[in-house]
Amino acid sequence: MSVAIIETADSADVRRAVDLLGGMKRFVSEGERVVIKPNVCAGKDSSTGTVTDPVMVAEVCRMVAECGAQPVVAESPIYPFRSGRVLERSGYADFEKKYGFLYVDLDSAENVEIKIPAGRAITNSVVGREVLTCDRLINMPVMKTHLQTVVTLGLKNLKGVVVGKQKHIIHLEGLDAGIVDLNTVIRSDLIIIDGIIGMEGMGGPTNGRACRMDVIVAGDNVVETDATATRIMGGDPREVEHIRMASERGLGSMDGFDLLGDDIGSVTVKRDLPRMPGLNKFLITDVSMRLWNALRVPLMRLTGGETVKRGAVLGELVIDAETCDGCRLCIAGCPVDALIWEDALVCDRDACIRCFCCAEICGRGALSKKF
Ligand code: SF4
Ligand code: SF4
Repeated sequence: MSVAIIETADSADVRRAVDLLGGMKRFVSEGERVVIKPNVCAGKDSSTGTVTDPVMVAEVCRMVAECGAQPVVAESPIYPFRSGRVLERSGYADFEKKYGFLYVDLDSAENVEIKIPAGRAITNSVVGREVLTCDRLINMPVMKTHLQTVVTLGLKNLKGVVVGKQKHIIHLEGLDAGIVDLNTVIRSDLIIIDGIIGMEGMGGPTNGRACRMDVIVAGDNVVETDATATRIMGGDPREVEHIRMASERGLGSMDGFDLLGDDIGSVTVKRDLPRMPGLNKFLITDVSMRLWNALRVPLMRLTGGETVKRGAVLGELVIDAETCDGCRLCIAGCPVDALIWEDALVCDRDACIRCFCCAEICGRGALSKKF
């Protein structure tokens, strides 16, 4: 097992990264159908660090085709984003026409329910059939931060094979464990992380700060590759819960593998990684809601009857009415219907479970979290 690091500003250098691992023929055989799963989560182009560079994805398609295999790019964006709009704004709308490779929108294609026998958070889910029936899966995330999971790399990118609203169930049942559950049944044969333009800050995965990282990281094991990319971002993979869990559950090691290519020290920069992800994680399970409801009355008694504000502990959703354009996508995406439109966007704070999915959804950055 090994991970290749290439310091570069050129997407075409993805070839050098894969060559260091033994070349595409090591991963793909003639006649196989190969799904390439980029991160096309939202309608922003790759210069924002939100989505995988389509030029790099096309180069990987070419490499797969050169092996005599059939590449298929497949993705489902963040719910409730409409795929058509996401594709238009992210630069993927003309992918087939421009590069000649098939792009499948998993939300409108056939999907299938899967069982996750070893699931700890989720024991079933609904994923695109294309991903289940392919011979190989190449996982191509962007190197970026995530408000709830600190980083979103190869392990987390697989959440995009789950279609539409089903993704919210993972948020509610336990995001980190759910990500690992998915990775126990859907395996990435090759992971290529686009870190040429990545993202940092609390606003990730869609509203963070774009930053040049000028690196491509590729590996044959998703835990090793994610651990390496996390270190390049100045983080410790042992402190990233889903990476640590994946390692503990036998999906790969965080240490002790070979690093190939450029020196990791030359590409490592301390990035602004999200703080206190544990608080957000606590909020996103149904269990936490019940726990809160169970504790609220005793806590009020303890504090002499004063109202205990959940937001004081867990953060509060802040709506910037000036920035909001009234698109209402966040309303459709709230898993507990806590957002309503009353001449302006309003949050029902008693119903809100502080999952901050809405902040992730809002393409204008009108929603944020405040303690
Ligand atoms: S907060 Fe954002 S997602 Fe929600 S209605 Fe306003 S612009 Fe749309
Ligand atoms: S309004 Fe509250 S519960 Fe709904 S998506 Fe936003 S943070 Fe989550």
